[in-house]
Amino acid sequence: MLSKDKVLEGLFTIIGKERVIADEKTLRENSVDSFRKYATLHNVYELPLPIAVIYAKNTEEVSKILLFANENRINVIAKNGGTSGEGGLENITANTIILDGSQMNHIANVDTQNMQVTVGCGVVLADLEELLRKQGLTTGHAPQNKLAQIGGLVATRSSGTLSNLYGGIEDMVVGLESVFPNGTIVRIKNSPRRAAGPDIRQVIIGNEGAIAYITQITLKLFKYRPENNLFLGWLIDDMSEGLSIIREVMTNGLKPSVARLYSPEDAKQHFPHFYKGKCVLVFMTEGMKSIAKATYDEIVNIVDTYKSKLITVEFKYYNDAVNVVTNHKTIEEVDARLIEKWFGSLNYNAEQMAAEKKLMLEHKNIGFTTEISCDWGSVINIYESAIKRIRTEFPHAADITLLGAHSSHSYQNGTNLSFVYNYNVVGKPEEERIKYHIPLNAIIVEEALKFGGSMVHHHGIGKYRSNWIKNEHGSAYYILDTLKKSFDPNDIMNKGTIFKA
Ligand SMILES: Cc1cc2nc3c(=O)[nH]c(=O)nc-3n(C[C@H](O)[C@H](O)[C@H](O)COP(=O)(O)OP(=O)(O)OC[C@H]3O[C@@H](n4cnc5c(N)ncnc54)[C@H](O)[C@@H]3O)c2cc1C
Repeated sequence: MLSKDKVLEGLFTIIGKERVIADEKTLRENSVDSFRKYATLHNVYELPLPIAVIYAKNTEEVSKILLFANENRINVIAKNGGTSGEGGLENITANTIILDGSQMNHIANVDTQNMQVTVGCGVVLADLEELLRKQGLTTGHAPQNKLAQIGGLVATRSSGTLSNLYGGIEDMVVGLESVFPNGTIVRIKNSPRRAAGPDIRQVIIGNEGAIAYITQITLKLFKYRPENNLFLGWLIDDMSEGLSIIREVMTNGLKPSVARLYSPEDAKQHFPHFYKGKCVLVFMTEGMKSIAKATYDEIVNIVDTYKSKLITVEFKYYNDAVNVVTNHKTIEEVDARLIEKWFGSLNYNAEQMAAEKKLMLEHKNIGFTTEISCDWGSVINIYESAIKRIRTEFPHAADITLLGAHSSHSYQNGTNLSFVYNYNVVGKPEEERIKYHIPLNAIIVEEALKFGGSMVHHHGIGKYRSNWIKNEHGSAYYILDTLKKSFDPNDIMNKGTIFKA
């Protein structure tokens, strides 16, 4: 193993001194991601510090650095926007370098004929969208975070707010360039579709820096017509009914861009002024005016059929007499302007994230999300079972201040659930992760897997769900394991991420 000085010397030779940063503060900040945001806020850093953070400017530099790291068995953590919250950027060994691609932020080509745009991995999606929207275009990708960069979004198989219409990032990438640990550069060509063997883009998309470094991406473009957006919202009595409405919408072939259902506890934090203790069901339709309106009308028709359904409620009196009341379901419409306003403030910018951190510090209260996916047949079981286990089995349940979930990405055959949980932290900052976040995350993952769901919908596995990777993939783990061993035989790519260390 090379000494730190020798590693730095090697890096200086490849890239020069200016873009190899090794001061203590930078190294500390680059040893973690926001899975440890509570400890980080208190300036507590417990992980080994990397040797340096390297800012690559182009694919050739990435190739040379990976080759150097591979030959000298140095762990490499790929980084872009740094917004990961699943431990994907956590460093678990002292012999590590961080390869930051944020300076590879060139927008190479907005091709309006073929409706595709080619960008460097370091392009901030929000910046790209700003530029495209001025030209009446959009990528259709809208994660709830304005700092993420395209390389990171592709590396985590991200999914945005409008996924019901545009799909996840895997549906948007038409071609990409990446570099393997032995320095090999590959460019998967742009194509509308092809049947030239398996779809090799999918080996790279979602690899979380554990197989290859993504340097350049070509994404689809769509026409941007926000003036046609239509919003709908209802208050619903229970989760199963709301989910069944979304299922009706999706299985009838409708394509709203947004289809979301919030449990009452989750709705309280988003819609405190109108949720009335109920679930909130939200839709947005978009596209050409007539299509947006037709989709809107059909959603209203579906909800109307639910409104006219009868429910029977039994009231039991103290003397055991029973009064049976039959009534229409209570589905109350929400003023569309309230939904539109909520939608406008959905995506977090740097100031909002900083404000959230300030509140965490002041109130010693912190919140996280664990997102899973499953078919329509198991979603309610997973929702109820995970909430019940947390309420009854989690030893610090009394410290929980919010526990709920929302479904925000739906498909023909199922949906996702993002469980949200906030808690007061009792104890030292370094105890927070072990005492609360890890066990809560584990219960949700276990329940998803128990009912046949997937343990992760769009954040990536990182380092905190790798324990269950074999369980997640079953016999198909053979494929994943073989990919890792073939492309990264020396295990230098983001050790411990996706694949258990
Ligand atoms: C407030 C908030 C809201 C969020 N909302 C959403 C949402 O709506 N949808 C969603 O999908 N996610 C969401 N996320 C999660 C996060 O933004 C995504 O995971 C995002 O894809 C990370 O992008 P990034 O550029 O910040 O990547 P980073 O955090 O830098 O890296 C993420 C992972 O990808 C790897 N990686 C980074 N760059 C490369 C590269 N060039 N090549 C190979 N591997 C690489 C890293 O090693 C790491 O494992 C949210 C996060 C926050 C904080």
